[in-house]
Amino acid sequence: MIDLRSDTVTRPTAAMLDAMMTAPLGDDVWGDDPTVNAFQAALAQQAGKEAALLFPSGTQSNLVALMAHCERGDEYIVGQSAHTYRYEGGGAAVLGSIQPQPIENDEDGSLPLEKISAAVKADDFHFARTRLLALENTIGGKVLPAAYIQQATDLARQHGLSTHLDGARLFNAVVATERSLKQLCQPFDSVSLCFSKGLGTPMGSALVGSQGLIDKARRLRKMVGGGMRQSGIIAAACQHALDHHVSDLVHDHRRAARLAEGLSALPGVEVTSQATNMVFVRFPDTHVQPLATWLKEHGILIELLYATRLVVHRDISDADIDEVIAVMQRYFECQ
Ligand SMILES: *Cc1c(COP(=O)(O)O)cnc(C)c1O
Repeated sequence: MIDLRSDTVTRPTAAMLDAMMTAPLGDDVWGDDPTVNAFQAALAQQAGKEAALLFPSGTQSNLVALMAHCERGDEYIVGQSAHTYRYEGGGAAVLGSIQPQPIENDEDGSLPLEKISAAVKADDFHFARTRLLALENTIGGKVLPAAYIQQATDLARQHGLSTHLDGARLFNAVVATERSLKQLCQPFDSVSLCFSKGLGTPMGSALVGSQGLIDKARRLRKMVGGGMRQSGIIAAACQHALDHHVSDLVHDHRRAARLAEGLSALPGVEVTSQATNMVFVRFPDTHVQPLATWLKEHGILIELLYATRLVVHRDISDADIDEVIAVMQRYFECQ
């Protein structure tokens, strides 16, 4: 199957599985898994932060970050379409007693500065205490402009807010901008990074930040059930991805551009945007269901829920891209 539903479907390679099989292990809740410790130290250094902490998922890494920055009854400013607000089951509110203050994202994924300022509450006991600004990069595949990030995080600091970045796909931004992980993490107090998206690990995310924040996060991670034992198996996969898969993302971006170009030439397909490894398309409403069925019959999976998002990843080849374009072309020729 050519699976365009998400980059989360990527499978570990034989070399990654080998790294996992041969990793020296300990018990990470006791702090003595050497592979976890080495990975966390290496990642922290690469991100230019004091410390890093491994998590089973990005949802848990984001939740713990929000809980480390905010106390009960505090509030965080976040995008209406941000993952931490929209796609994490309301965890910040449910489990952290943290009130979200969502703001409509602009077309480029940014939160307008004047809306951030207007959302910060005065110090008055009627209001929740505004504590944190949370951004996402990439968002909908788009890289947030560096100048915007600087302005938004400067503004947050002027208001006494901490800053968190959901960097589930920050490595895509690293590759797309040719800036370093350290440069892209620098404006933020904490950053959550995923290894189970386009980087191909079976699981694993990491939070980076100051030693104080990570110490707090370790306690919270245990509280929410994220303390793991021989998690060197996961850390070995993440380290392997960091060493060998990051630079491959450039091929995903190239293939996504090729897919967008091919599809935009077809009648009945409107490519609405393409950035990094994602292509957003629109089909006439009446074609969505029959097209998805046709594609499935021809070995191509797309997510009907978000029928307009096609995600390219390391398990999609150049030939697969040509095949997707050809199969879609045949569908619309038959109409
Ligand atoms: C995937 C993703 C996460 C984390 O998801 P998990 O499935 O919990 O690892 C967080 N933020 C964004 C933007 C994501 O795409």
